[in-house]
Amino acid sequence: MTNSLFTRIRDRFPTELSSVLIETPTGKTYSYGHADAASAQIAGLLTSLGAQKGDRVAVQVDKSPEALFLYLGCIRAGLVYLPLNTAYQAGELAYFMDNASPVIFVCQPHRQDEVTAIASEQGVKHVLTLGMEGEGSLIDGANAQSDTFDPVSCADDDLAAILYTSGTTGKPKGAMMTQMNLWSNAATLENLWGFSGDDTLLHALPIFHTHGLFIACHCVMLSGSKMFFLPKFDRDQVMALLSRSTVMMGVPTFYVRLLSGDDFTADVTKNMRLFISGSAPLLPETFTAFKERTGKALLERYGMTEMGMATSNPLDGERIVHTVGPALPDVDVRVCDADGNVLETDEIGVLEARGPNVFAGYWQMPEKTAEEFREDGFFVTGDIAKIDAKGYVHIVGRAKDLVISGGFNVYPKEIETLIDKMEGVVESAVIGVQHPDFGEAVVAVIVPAAKDALSEDGVISAIKSQLANFKVPKRVFFKDDLPRNAMGKVQKNVLRDEYKALFAN
Ligand code: AMP
Repeated sequence: MTNSLFTRIRDRFPTELSSVLIETPTGKTYSYGHADAASAQIAGLLTSLGAQKGDRVAVQVDKSPEALFLYLGCIRAGLVYLPLNTAYQAGELAYFMDNASPVIFVCQPHRQDEVTAIASEQGVKHVLTLGMEGEGSLIDGANAQSDTFDPVSCADDDLAAILYTSGTTGKPKGAMMTQMNLWSNAATLENLWGFSGDDTLLHALPIFHTHGLFIACHCVMLSGSKMFFLPKFDRDQVMALLSRSTVMMGVPTFYVRLLSGDDFTADVTKNMRLFISGSAPLLPETFTAFKERTGKALLERYGMTEMGMATSNPLDGERIVHTVGPALPDVDVRVCDADGNVLETDEIGVLEARGPNVFAGYWQMPEKTAEEFREDGFFVTGDIAKIDAKGYVHIVGRAKDLVISGGFNVYPKEIETLIDKMEGVVESAVIGVQHPDFGEAVVAVIVPAAKDALSEDGVISAIKSQLANFKVPKRVFFKDDLPRNAMGKVQKNVLRDEYKALFAN
């Protein structure tokens, strides 16, 4: 009897293995039995190629049911699953192969030649392919294998996955996720969010990230429920499937896009019991508009690659706008100053977390790992936050986005909140730009509702009366969109780069 992550997930499959696990937008279905057999075949193929317990399998493929079975096949064989964003280019792939030394790389069929060349330079033995329709050498090879495979026994602290952080500064770091990290978070969330076999999850997230892969798919598989598996977020497809779904997990951008059309109504969402938002800050306007339109409160939660989820607004209690809720039952959170002193209620500092969900460190980067853990095991998240008297966590921003202007700390979120409330503003991002006098100067980038609706002087004078001078943006720029990554996060590093020479003399 093993207690591996795979075995624990498999034990939760419905007794009726013909139950549907996945339905695609074209109506094709895959049962739990199919997932079981396919994962056995894939585990068989990978081990027949020489992969042994603890070896890394890097995967850069489009989202498909087979990609999920590949994840299951890896953990079934005790291999370490290493998913990569399909946007990564050759130089980045060489870095990941060098850093993680996977034994097998699974890529999109059209990139086979490019990836094979990099793999042979980096000493990666095997390159397999997997396309959106399940085509390619992975499934061809797996089909020749047995559809049973005894799960490899794993201890709780054996690795199950390595997820590279998005790396907005420096090289991406591989967060080592253990069997217990993933299992504890899965079991906690499935229970906390009330998943049952009657649920149908509308899955439109990518599966190279913790949100779409672990949080979403584990909740489904642990409850024996079903999911609509969309290759990506497509507003029309989501609208068409809402009436047959009960839960959706999304990044805030999904909800903004749904709200952008009048057809998103209380009637269309009446079958839905839960909409969950996370991975990027949810604007209070979105929360409010969503509630007005559907009568439902979005459930906002907070987490990161290194720990899965850490806090969540409640299923049955009060969901408070602009907060990410209290810590999960098995997670401790606290807010500390830079020296690690624990701060009082409502004081702003850096959020730290400890629990079975918190990762085992960065792959082959012991110094980086040591920098981000306190001696008592708390992980320093790098998010600036406060915890209120109810125990709800408020995320104020990223520590590395903090602007220090003339020696004063400026929290971009404070200024963004003010700007976002101004008539004619869709959204904003505030950054620090190198400045000869101030060290850094505050700069605001605004997406206006209409061209020429706002002026730089107008915005600055409106803010001046409400904020201390050192917080008032020195310059304001207008843009059609803010740069965002695949998870909907504003890429402030891209903006900082764009404006870095602004005050150069
Ligand atoms: P990632 O590792 O890509 O999942 O990014 C994690 C980061 O996303 C966190 O450290 C936060 O800065 C941000 N984040 C995740 N959820 C939320 C949320 N609900 N509100 C604000 N920021 C969030």
